[in-house]
Amino acid sequence: MTTTYEMVIGLEVHAQLKTKTKLFCGCSTHFGDAVNTHVCPVCLGMPGSLPVLNKRAVEMAVIAGKALNCDIQETSVFARKNYFYPDLPKGYQISQFELPLCLGGHLDIVVDDQIKRIGITRIHMEEDAGKLLHQGSGAIAGSTHSLVDLNRACTPLIEIVSEPDIRSAAEARAYVESLRIILRTIGVNDGNLEEGSMRVDVNLSLRPSGTSKFGTRTEVKNVNSFRSIERAIASEFARQKEILDAGGVVIQQTRNYHDDTQTTTALRDKEEAHDYRYFPDPDLLPLVLSKLQLQDILANFPELPEQIRHRYLGLVLTDSDVVVLLEDMTMRAYFEACLKVSGVVPAKEICKWVVGDLNAFLKDRPEGFASTMATPEKFVGLLALLVAGTISGKMMKDLLQKMIETGQNADVLLTQSGGAQVSDASELIPVIEKVLAANPDVVEKIKSGKSQSAEFLMGQVMKETRGKAKPDLVRQIIAEVISKY
Ligand code: ADP
Ligand code: MG
Ligand code: ZN
Repeated sequence: MTTTYEMVIGLEVHAQLKTKTKLFCGCSTHFGDAVNTHVCPVCLGMPGSLPVLNKRAVEMAVIAGKALNCDIQETSVFARKNYFYPDLPKGYQISQFELPLCLGGHLDIVVDDQIKRIGITRIHMEEDAGKLLHQGSGAIAGSTHSLVDLNRACTPLIEIVSEPDIRSAAEARAYVESLRIILRTIGVNDGNLEEGSMRVDVNLSLRPSGTSKFGTRTEVKNVNSFRSIERAIASEFARQKEILDAGGVVIQQTRNYHDDTQTTTALRDKEEAHDYRYFPDPDLLPLVLSKLQLQDILANFPELPEQIRHRYLGLVLTDSDVVVLLEDMTMRAYFEACLKVSGVVPAKEICKWVVGDLNAFLKDRPEGFASTMATPEKFVGLLALLVAGTISGKMMKDLLQKMIETGQNADVLLTQSGGAQVSDASELIPVIEKVLAANPDVVEKIKSGKSQSAEFLMGQVMKETRGKAKPDLVRQIIAEVISKY
């Protein structure tokens, strides 16, 4: 008889906080600059330098903790986690250990239309390490030597530790996806797994289905895309199953995931907390947040993705539009700015154009939504003309493109284009009668039931009016005139 196994997963997610400066010094956190240009005695670990805690990082960590339903601790303590590695000049990482900032939260995920609650054990603050640049190879294996870039050393992180509540690769993915959207939306993290601003460690163990005792876990590192989260889980599940099926035991280990081969290899036998000789950092006071300070921070608590979703669905946006807007922060900021000046223009109409044509027009332009000359005010001004029937959808597109290129407002563009759409029946009737008289055969067809031939007449009327006739009105008049023939 073969045993079937259930997987048990707990995730540790490191998320870089979007502060301008590092956690304990004033160096810039800007990504992609020349190596070792954002360094100072503090983040280089020089003797005699002293750390000063970044207030903004604490605020962001508190907001993240609240967004994930945690209890924010009045007192938390920074400790030293001691180990040697060339990317860690101090010889220790400053991290919260026994007393973290946030405890006991949860995150609800949706898998197969079912809501499942995943517990969050803790969220603590810590500093990042530097980066090793392996020369002559992408990895340490095969490289001739390695260089050290300390620009990232001391960048603020939060580590979000989940309970071992996750039971499948799909749940793990859904958890990281909703975590990512939340952290991005509240503005504390840019959600870029590939660039390393979010890093996921997968803890995984197996147990015979139907049993309750946890098995021995491994911790898989280096999973830096949604695809590799799923693949790393599948590969580690298969590896552990094979061991257990053969009557062996899983060794508690830290393993490395390789995307090219979709396998994991042992990195080191699992270290225990006591290996790191944690102790409170004597250079840093305990972080104490008074009720008043917490109130202050939370006074500006941002809207969460779920709340935004509800608000948008209330404005009758579609589900798929909401997903697009939640994913693209600059597009959403633009949309929100439009809502503020929307006047008579319905949100749904704004959304349709923002997500559709405007997005398409701006796609290849460097200024994008953030600084397009078609400002929300001007754009809504143009949409107001469309909603009022002054311009047609076709004109809307043309004028919108011109607005993006010139930054002219709607009225100027309308005048330049030769004026409004013709929506006055008394102006249209003579044109339509002329077209009908010139096309008696088409009129016959329509009278004999081929109503689609009306589109030909429509085209002729548009040609005569240089595209300015109001389509609905033309259709209506054509039908009326023909019925009298
Ligand atoms: P460490 O700090 O040594 O990594 P933790 O106790 O903090 O260990 O646990 C880290 C992660 O491992 C947590 O997300 C937790 O849910 C998960 N975890 C703990 N035990 C198991 C297990 N038996 N199987 C799978 N995941 C586990
Ligand atoms: Mg760990
Ligand atoms: Zn510094």
